Amino acid sequence: MQQEQQMKAFIDEENCIGCGKCRRVCPTDAIIGSKHLLHTVLPQFCTACSHCIDTCPTDCITLSTPGDLLSPALELQLTEKKQYRLNPNSLVPPTILFPTQTPPISQAANTITDRKQSILDAIARVKAKKNLAK
Ligand code: SF4
Ligand code: SF4
Repeated sequence: MQQEQQMKAFIDEENCIGCGKCRRVCPTDAIIGSKHLLHTVLPQFCTACSHCIDTCPTDCITLSTPGDLLSPALELQLTEKKQYRLNPNSLVPPTILFPTQTPPISQAANTITDRKQSILDAIARVKAKKNLAK
């Protein structure tokens, strides 16, 4: 039986400044990376909740990598693991309890061309922000 697919988070590593904000808000610990170094997404743990996208200061994350939908059991297990090691003041909203709407795969960028375009758009946004800051 073929597993259902969804678009997973992808980090455009050229524009990642290693701030770690995405890693902190990811409910399933699907993002790895060290402080001040680039971060990357483990698509097999990503629920496509978009929390990382909302928090990234350089807009370098997009939902653009196709991958298998997580089973509710694995999602719950990963979420509980993260919640367990966080202190109560830094808990992040678990996707399994507060699901966010993500576009169906047919409406999302699901080709290599679309993915490249998403990255180019993100880079353009960063450049525009930098120009505004000058
Ligand atoms: S979309 Fe959600 S689950 Fe996926 S990496 Fe970002 S914060 Fe983590
Ligand atoms: S929030 Fe954005 S810039 Fe910061 S580590 Fe994550 S991907 Fe990189």
